[in-house]
Parts: sequence; C-alpha cells; structure tokens
Amino acid sequence: MPAKVTPRSVDYSRWYTDVVQMADLADYAPVRGCMVIKPYGYALWENIKEGLDRRFKATGHVNAYFPLFIPLSFIQKEAEHVKGFSPELAIVTIGGGEQLEEPLVVRPTSETIIGHMYAKWVQSYRDLPILINQWANVVRWEMRTRLFLRTTEFLWQEGHTAHATAEEALEETLRILDIYAEFAIEDAAIPVIKGRKSESERFAGAVTSYTIEAMMGDKRALQAGTSHFLGQNFARAFDIKFLDQNNELQYAWTTSWGVSTRMVGAVVMVHGDDQGLILPPKLAPIQVVVVPIWRDEEQRTAVMEAVGRVRQALEPEVRLKVDDREGLSPGWKFNDWEMRGVPLRIEVGPQDVAQEQVVLARRDRPGKEGKTSVPMAGLTDAVREMLMTVQADLYRRALAFREANTFYPEDFEGLREAVANGFAYAWWCGDAACEAKVKEETTATIRCIPLEQEPGTGRCVVCGRESRERAVFARAY
Ligand SMILES: [Zn+2]
Repeated sequence: MPAKVTPRSVDYSRWYTDVVQMADLADYAPVRGCMVIKPYGYALWENIKEGLDRRFKATGHVNAYFPLFIPLSFIQKEAEHVKGFSPELAIVTIGGGEQLEEPLVVRPTSETIIGHMYAKWVQSYRDLPILINQWANVVRWEMRTRLFLRTTEFLWQEGHTAHATAEEALEETLRILDIYAEFAIEDAAIPVIKGRKSESERFAGAVTSYTIEAMMGDKRALQAGTSHFLGQNFARAFDIKFLDQNNELQYAWTTSWGVSTRMVGAVVMVHGDDQGLILPPKLAPIQVVVVPIWRDEEQRTAVMEAVGRVRQALEPEVRLKVDDREGLSPGWKFNDWEMRGVPLRIEVGPQDVAQEQVVLARRDRPGKEGKTSVPMAGLTDAVREMLMTVQADLYRRALAFREANTFYPEDFEGLREAVANGFAYAWWCGDAACEAKVKEETTATIRCIPLEQEPGTGRCVVCGRESRERAVFARAY
C-alpha cells in the first residue's frame, strides 16, 4: 500500500503538506523558503495558466515580459509602495565580481519597472489604453515555507494597464475581478466572495484593492486573486503623462492585478480529503485513469484488448492515462491515483469484458456509492457527462461547506465565536481601530467588504456605531 496522509482531523497543516508531497505536486528546495514544482504540480499550474490566459486575451489583453531586476531607486519612488515592500526585498549588490553602482532589487512585483516603460511609451491619448499581462516569477523574502502558500519565490501573472480616465481604469479593475471569480468558480470549482479590501489590507500604493476570498477545508480564508485600482499614484511617481483630446497634459490612470501559484494550494485545500488530492476535471492534468484488472495471461489478453478500445475512444476527448504498470496490484493503483486526485477511474476486468462494459469510479465519492457500470458503446458520452457532473458537484459541495460555516454575529462575543468556526459577516463602521481590535483579540482580519451588500444599516460589531456595510472577518492564510 502507498503511504497514507495525516488525517485532516488530526493535523490539517500536516495533512496539507503530506498531500502536496505525496501527490507529487512539489518538494522543498535546498534554499530556505523556496520550492520545487514537480511535473504533476506544474501540469496543474499550466492548466490554471491556460484558463486565465484565455480569458485575459478574450478581453483584449496581451502578454509581454519585463526584467527580473529593478533599480532600487525605482522601488523608492512611490512612498507607500516602498514602505510595504521594503521588509521583503532581495537586493543584488554585486554583479560579475564588482560592486554595483546602483543596487538591483529582484522584483517583488513590477509596477515600478513597468511604470517606467509606460512613461516612455505613452505620449497621446491614442496610445491608451495599454493592456499588458506578464507571466513571471517574483521574490518576496519569507522565513517560513508553506508549499504553494508562502514561498520566497513564486510564479504568477501580473497585469498592468494604463488608461485615459479614472472610470476606465476602475472598470478594468472590476472586469479583472470578474474574470478571477469566473475562473475560480467555473474551472477551479471554488466559490469565492468578491470584495474590496479595507485600507489596512490594501496593496501598497493602491487607491482601492479588490479581492476574491475563498474558504479552505479548515474554514480559514485564502485570498485567491487581487485587482488594484492604482489611481494616478504610479503615473505621478513614474511620470506617465499623455496629451488628451484637448491637447492638455494629463497623468494616466493605472491598474495592476495578480493570481499566483497559491491557487494550487487553494485547489488542494478546498477539495482534498483524507485519501489525498481531489482535482476538478477542468484543471486535472489527468482527467481519467484506466486500470486493467486481470489474474492470468488469458484474462490479460482479453482485458488489454478492451483497454485498447477504451483508449481509442477516449484519448481524443479527455486527458487520459492507462496504468499498465507491471507488478502493482489494482488496489495499489487505485490508492495511488486517488492520492493524485484523478477525477475519474475506469476499471476494466474480465467480467466487464464479458459483458461489454466498464466500471466508472468517481474520486469525489469514494467507495461503492461512486461506482457505476457503463456499456462500452456510448462510453465517450458517459465519461464526458460524468466529468461535468463531478465538476459541478465539487463546486456545490464547496459552496455548501462555506455556507454551513458562515455566521452573522451581532456583537463582539458572537464575532469571536464565529471567526473561531468560519467566516463572519458582520457590520463594520469603517474605523481602522475597530478592525485592529478584532485582529488583536481574535487574530481574524477583514478579508473583504463584499461588493454584494444587503440593503440597510446595522450596529458595528465592535463599537456599536451605525454602519452601512458588512465585512467578512476570518482567520486567513
Ligand atoms: Zn466600529
């Protein structure tokens, strides 16, 4: 039998690390804070990339690439930005054996260097908007490593756009937030709350930060993507100016937005169980695994002939793997693919061959309940339909879990209890002091102020003052 993961009820954080390593997604690197993304984990990331990249391009964005090194003086140009990022910077002072005239920062994010370039590229309103995305790695110094969730170097996409008006830039910021939410819901089967960050939680240098927040299997929140309206802050710092239609010089309005390899961690924590990973079919590197079952040579010949027909039927339709490894029992293989979260398994045994059928077993419903016999004729349709059902059921299950662990406390004691058990939707007056008190006494933070608000007012859950909005409080990754 393959090794087993630590059960979630025993130690959730151990469970997570076990799954990531035993499902072959990633491993620790010799450099503290870094990780190695293994081929299976990288294939998952590639599917995430593809789902996002397709949506970016469909909304007019193009990809480009900017340098890894940024002059230190660039980072210092925007006051809030430097304050926010200074503690996390990796700085190169020696190159080619020589002390550098100006130290270079290894990019923690690219607003500054891209702002510098946009200042060169933008002269007139005709040069706007610029809608550029880059797929890249960034470095933010971390002392603790949590594979995919917190690493010194991580992969992401960062979009950077420049516009002629505030309205357009704000529209872009929210369009991207919608794309992130759509990707999370439709591809990753992860329900998310779209909202605005409080001032204390917003991106360093932004006017307003928007986020999608998801509930993990341990009821903590994970920020799964952010989209920032930067106003004219970076345009002023980097001199991104243009002549408008009236021939007047104006500063541009910019945005930036990102989703990172954290999304892999979210997929693991939202869907996984004590057998290991469970992948939503749309993102799974292998959607269907075929396990042949036989005892002697005669059975083997018949079974492998049927497996060949299954392969022929399904290979053009789904990402398929036939597990014909020698010397491993079918049961061992079942466990192995369950650990890796393959959404659907097809079992082909001698009895199935005799009856011109196969057995489909769903990863999200282990045991008898998730097994059905399907005739060989019509297998392709049955598999396609089953994958869609699994995708939809994973989303429904995650949403039901979040709803069952979401509370609406009216006072501070209620809030304290709520954030110990999940998400708290609570009235908040907007005062940073109330926010700070919650963090100090419960470790929970405001994850977002949801864009969708029920009408009406209520009393701030901390100070009792009249409040116009509810915020989502939760402990977070
Ligand atoms: Zn208050």
